Amino acid sequence: MKTYFRILTFAKPLKGLISIFLPATILAILFNILNFATLIPILEVLFKKGDGDTTFNPPARMPDFEFSGKYFSEAKDFILGYLTVGEDPAELLFRICILLAISVVIANVFSYLSQFILTIIKTRISKNLRQVTYEKITALNLGYFNAERKGDVMSRMTTDIIEVEGTGVNFFRVLIKETLTIIILFIFLFGISVKLTLFSILILPISGLAIGQITKRLKKKSSQSQDSLGLLLGIIDETLSGMRVILAFNASKFISSKFAKHNSRYTKILFSIDYKRNMASPLNQVLGVFVVAAILYRGGLIVFEGDIEGSTFFTYILLFAQIISPLKAISNAIAGMQRGLVSANRVFEVIDTPLTIKDVTSAKAISEFISKIELKNLEFKYDSDPVLKNIDLTIEKGKTIALVGPSGGGKSTLMDLIPRFHDATGGEVLVDGKNIKEYKIHDLRQLMGVVTQEAILFNDTVFNNIAFGIRATKEEVIRAAKIANAHEFIEHLEDGYDTEVGDRGSRLSGGQRQRLTIARAILKNPPILLMDEATSALDSESEHLVQEALTNLMKNRTSLVIAHRFSTIQHADKIVVLKDGEIVEEGTHDELMKIDDGVFHKLSAMQAVH
Ligand code: ADP
Ligand code: MG
Repeated sequence: MKTYFRILTFAKPLKGLISIFLPATILAILFNILNFATLIPILEVLFKKGDGDTTFNPPARMPDFEFSGKYFSEAKDFILGYLTVGEDPAELLFRICILLAISVVIANVFSYLSQFILTIIKTRISKNLRQVTYEKITALNLGYFNAERKGDVMSRMTTDIIEVEGTGVNFFRVLIKETLTIIILFIFLFGISVKLTLFSILILPISGLAIGQITKRLKKKSSQSQDSLGLLLGIIDETLSGMRVILAFNASKFISSKFAKHNSRYTKILFSIDYKRNMASPLNQVLGVFVVAAILYRGGLIVFEGDIEGSTFFTYILLFAQIISPLKAISNAIAGMQRGLVSANRVFEVIDTPLTIKDVTSAKAISEFISKIELKNLEFKYDSDPVLKNIDLTIEKGKTIALVGPSGGGKSTLMDLIPRFHDATGGEVLVDGKNIKEYKIHDLRQLMGVVTQEAILFNDTVFNNIAFGIRATKEEVIRAAKIANAHEFIEHLEDGYDTEVGDRGSRLSGGQRQRLTIARAILKNPPILLMDEATSALDSESEHLVQEALTNLMKNRTSLVIAHRFSTIQHADKIVVLKDGEIVEEGTHDELMKIDDGVFHKLSAMQAVH
């Protein structure tokens, strides 16, 4: 129940909506009942009064209200009498039919109005949920996302949210609309015949129980289906971004068979859900007819006894049949709500993921980098084994420190700890003598520019990719692009700075993409630069252009550079060699080259061979 209310909070403000929804719904129900009520006089006109029946003596005034068949019968006779004064049956029939037509129109106008409100609630819920989930995702730390999580998060943000919006609305449909319909119908049924209605109340729950059993089983399956869909989406995402490799390795078959396996699993689960859900409908119908048959029999006996008239009983059955449909709707909704609940929990799981990296309450502002970055006895674990340990390193302002070492040594991880993409699991990182956890994360990251091996571009224009997250004038963007050696090629693009770069920048070459990300860093103008193998993915010609851009970028800044090609770091103030998570050597290029069996010496010799 708590989850339902939480879903509804996403449709806020609800007050105005409910104040329209409630009266509209009640009026729709009442006019719907009136539709059926008009049938009584029609039947009577056709079968009895129309036959020249002269025993018809309508009461002179509306009888006093009471809950009984007598009241309804007399009220009906009064209205009939009122309508029939001095008229022939054909004219009467015509009037009643007009009444029926008007009542149907009114009932449906109100019904549409209440449906309209439900649509507003539905769309609001999904819009707000999507927004909140998306914002949460952008706030989560890097560690949250790994390969399986990506598809999973996508499935939660799409199918699960659709499931939830339905549930939020079902809540109104079931709790208010259908329940009200049933209550009001029962009031009328009791009015017509207490005896018969008590009898029907006794036999209705039997069918309810059977349906309840089916819905219970549906719940477990739905959660499996969403998990399975998440896996599928993960594979699709991986495939789309790895198309080149799949083609090159002739791996289409391999990856298709992997997809086929998960696809059949998903289908199997969907099938078993549908099969159970489909069971519910015929079962409902059969049980419904059983109930009506029982009431027909019992009611027929009452008519024989003369307690109610045949035409009234006929209307009773028609009204009673009207209960079946909301009951069915409720049972369907309950089944759907089980699925919705599972989905809601999956969405809320994302929203409720605790932010492990967040500002402490006393977080301090920092707008300038003054002296140095220090890593003290740093340790970091992704899982149980540390990938970094005993790291002690000082980066003085204005210096360039190069980080080298065999792949998997922990270089990228170390770099991630400085802008707090992860938090160190041991030791500390200090900026200007203070632990970085004491600063506002936003301020800390504002001091740093990051350039990675894979140039990250977004499906937007060149201009927006350079001025990413910042407000900048055209002149500023052009100036940054010039320093990044990018202006010239941008000018030659079809629409210059307004050219769309395509999904992940696919319309640009590797070197062009990288120069755009460098221009982005130049525009941000941060005092500290973090570069992770920024040139390693490039061919030597564009490497030259990019390297020049990087040199421009590094001017007058403090840089930590991970370099794959040692030629690019000869001029670093200090080179640090990281192996198996530990610093094994450090010094200038010349100093390290002198250590004959040193790691750096060996790595360097290996490169010379190439
Ligand atoms: P480098 O950049 O020096 O090649 P990394 O910092 O990327 O090395 O990786 C260091 C170690 O941490 C490797 O053993 C790698 O397998 C592991 N590692 C990297 N990223 C993750 C992650 N997200 N989850 C678990 N282990 C990781
Ligand atoms: Mg790396």
